[in-house]
Amino acid sequence: MSPIRSTDRFADLAEQLQSLRNENRYRELVPRRVCGTRLVGTDGQSLINFGSNDYLGFASNPLLSNTAFGGNPVAGATASALVCGWSEAHEQLATTIADFESTERAVLFPSGYAACSGTIATLAREGDLILSDALNHASLIDGCRLSRARRIVFPHGDVDFIEQTLREQRSHYARVWIVTESVFSMDGDIAPLTQICECAERFDAELVVDEAHATGVLGATGSGLCEALGIRHRVAVRVGTLSKAIGAQGGFVAATQVIVEYLINHCRSLIFSTSLSPFVVDCAIRHIEHIRRHATRRESLARRIAQFHELRGQPVVGPLTPIVPIVIGECGLALNHSRKLREEGFFVPAIRPPTVPPGTSRLRVSLSVSHTEDEVQSLVNSLNSLHC
Ligand code: PMP
Repeated sequence: MSPIRSTDRFADLAEQLQSLRNENRYRELVPRRVCGTRLVGTDGQSLINFGSNDYLGFASNPLLSNTAFGGNPVAGATASALVCGWSEAHEQLATTIADFESTERAVLFPSGYAACSGTIATLAREGDLILSDALNHASLIDGCRLSRARRIVFPHGDVDFIEQTLREQRSHYARVWIVTESVFSMDGDIAPLTQICECAERFDAELVVDEAHATGVLGATGSGLCEALGIRHRVAVRVGTLSKAIGAQGGFVAATQVIVEYLINHCRSLIFSTSLSPFVVDCAIRHIEHIRRHATRRESLARRIAQFHELRGQPVVGPLTPIVPIVIGECGLALNHSRKLREEGFFVPAIRPPTVPPGTSRLRVSLSVSHTEDEVQSLVNSLNSLHC
């Protein structure tokens, strides 16, 4: 029998792919090797990488121990957490995260995506209302879609909208969940969390905050924006990823004992997926402990971010986040700028719809402690010469 030919039976999908190509929205996987702040393609070209989320430089230079796992490295967890994939190392990481986040308890997920989507889908039940920021990450949006609660999307960061909706509708729902990122992934701006907290408290609503891009970067001990603003105890659920500043892989939820217990018993993305690899668990423990004890990496990162803004002639106002969008507009133009930067030796990804709203395609600069002053200076020179 001859194999199924995609062009015969999936012509409609092929047509849609062609439309994406015509609109400059087609995406493909490109093999590349990460080497510190360098990104090396199969053609051997070495680019300075301004596209990674390795904000503190741990991913490309992990703190490994030779003694972990009794000298026997273990690649896979072999089963889901509730079967037999939860080792002492997983328990230790969960406890480390609960201490780091100053919560009663924490639990691990296979990814930040699984943590965000699964948690919202599980906690927000029929009869509840979810208020979700318009620029929330896909993982939060998918959690809202999967849940049986009613969902209202509020304009980005609009506390007045939240307040008015709660004033008019709070009494119709059992529980209200306000869902937001703390540092927004495509804009690098921060949510007005203190005001959202005050509003939530006035109307008896709960907050779910995704700290994916703030964990390790903000706060006196590096746990994120909630810590920086002094509101950790007012946020019911904090979600994070181990795959950005923590430099490992996986996701977590830090919350009260009862919420974590409820997730362990009901959350499908936690229950029905293989537990995290013990190898990444070991890295995550070491990296979080380092982040808690030493402010040096996040202070150097803040200096690097400030340097970038100063060189660009932009105001340096805190809290400084490592994501800087340069909005270009049309997809083709953004791709073109990204290509020109590549020719000059920089990898700066062009981010296009559906990741960002139509007409706001952008270059997204991600800064890391591993970038040198000279690397940041030369990127800014190239951006200026491209009039970006
Ligand atoms: N939330 C936000 C805001 C993110 O940017 C990401 C990663 N792009 C995630 C969640 C998902 O995290 P992970 O990559 O660990 O699945």
